[in-house]
Amino acid sequence: MRLIYLLLLSIIIDQPVSPSSSVPILCYHNISADDSRKSSALSISRLQLRAQLKALADSGYHSILPDQLYAYLTTGKKLPDRPVMITFDDTRTEHFTIAAPLLQEYGFKGVFFVMTVPVAKPGYMNASQIKALSDMGHVIGAHTWDHPHAKGIRPSDREKQLVNPRHVLEKITGKPVEYIAYPFGEWNETVIADVQISGYKAAFQLTGKVSPANKLYTIRRIMVNGSWSGPRLQQELKIVFK
Ligand SMILES: [Zn+2]
Repeated sequence: MRLIYLLLLSIIIDQPVSPSSSVPILCYHNISADDSRKSSALSISRLQLRAQLKALADSGYHSILPDQLYAYLTTGKKLPDRPVMITFDDTRTEHFTIAAPLLQEYGFKGVFFVMTVPVAKPGYMNASQIKALSDMGHVIGAHTWDHPHAKGIRPSDREKQLVNPRHVLEKITGKPVEYIAYPFGEWNETVIADVQISGYKAAFQLTGKVSPANKLYTIRRIMVNGSWSGPRLQQELKIVFK
């Protein structure tokens, strides 16, 4: 299962990039407390995450949250200088234990896209950790119930994969959950329609094509390679988010 997940993500990463948004959005997955472990597209060590966040802070980047991006994209409301959105997918415990303190250290707020099936299972955040992130000013977004592929989300699954996870996360955080990240970054127009009906204002993918008719539901993010240095990260952002 995990191997298939890695394989599919590697296919996604190799897709050609077509720039469309000027606001850089980063996507992280696993974070390792073991700094000797090799970083990759799906995993970053604590040391490397600190180096990347420090580089962004030192270069004057300001983290923005989905409501700010939404206002910018729909009304042109001004963003801070050098905006960046920092997102974390898949509910891992290290998002709370490692990422949140590092974000705080550099004055950033992040977005955590939580799939709900593993909540409180070993290795994954529990409800009070998710609530604590929300209380710290980070944003909790949805990431479906159990991470299906886009073609696997039939209209009959809407309640299970899109509506109920939103309700679960709203109950945990006490706040509206209005944004979702597609598992594997995959979407199609049917899924977009389901996401809209399910009450989401915008949806985030990875570096796939953008739907001309539904730009708010195909917002692009870059999967950050954990091995990138701070300067390399900034170079990559300039290439993808021209
Ligand atoms: Zn995911």
